[in-house]
Amino acid sequence: MLTELGKLYVVATPIGNLADMTFRAVEVLKQVDLIAAEDTRHVKMLLQHYGISNKLVSLHQHNEDTASAGLLEKLRTGLSIALVSDAGTPLLSDPGMPLVKMVKDAGLDVVPIPGACALIAALSAAGLPVTQFMFEGFLPRTSSARKAFFTERLLSPKTWVFYESCHRILACLQDMAEVLPLDREIVIARELTKLHETIVKTSLGNAVKLVADNDNMRRGEFVVIVDGAVIDKREQAISLEQENLLKVLMRECSIKTAVALAVEITGAKKKLLYQAALAMQDQGDR
Ligand code: SAM
Repeated sequence: MLTELGKLYVVATPIGNLADMTFRAVEVLKQVDLIAAEDTRHVKMLLQHYGISNKLVSLHQHNEDTASAGLLEKLRTGLSIALVSDAGTPLLSDPGMPLVKMVKDAGLDVVPIPGACALIAALSAAGLPVTQFMFEGFLPRTSSARKAFFTERLLSPKTWVFYESCHRILACLQDMAEVLPLDREIVIARELTKLHETIVKTSLGNAVKLVADNDNMRRGEFVVIVDGAVIDKREQAISLEQENLLKVLMRECSIKTAVALAVEITGAKKKLLYQAALAMQDQGDR
């Protein structure tokens, strides 16, 4: 018996290719008393495929708080429950956080049953550094908010990864191209594990053209990975005087204005001052 009473199992399911279900996931879904699913109709297809018939309850973003409280009560009575989302690993841009938090806070066990996850699959095949990366979930939907988002990450040395829908992929890349250098390397991972899986590693400039010119590149599901900024170590430092000036300016105005004024006053490079300003903000140094 793989499952134990009173435990919550967080079970990853395939992101396209049904064969990506793990043996352990199948056994757990068979053995638990109850499966909490984002979309019960959707998960039924997966369960049918693996010959699993089990009780289903729905747990989605609109009923999470109340449904989670009910599930916690069931766990307390000793039932075992599996949590699944529509695809991949629950909680990763998917429902489940309130339930997992409630169960942990109540001192009960949460057991991960690992498996497919679009961001990890994309990173594993991207060929960009993965020692350190930032996962950003879905990006803001408006162009101005997206550009602000890209500006904040312009100088980050870490690889960053996000999810994007087919409806916004082109606009998203076009916005990115207005903020990031066009030679920045990016990876577009589309329809992972499915028939039309496409993983393209190219410059941002080429990526915009590729997606604009090719209808197929605007279909399906997307993970986008962006290489971190390469900053020459010799150029990284700003002087103490410049740093102090920036601090004072940041007390009075926005980062953008403070950096612009500091560039005008000191003649230092905007990129360096901007990077220093972001670091100060991160450290709560304002
Ligand atoms: N929890 C899931 C996971 O573990 O990856 C992600 C759920 S999130 C609601 C769905 C988004 O993940 C999609 O809009 C897409 O950006 C990305 N995604 C999911 N499956 C994918 C696939 N097969 N290929 C590329 N991206 C995928």
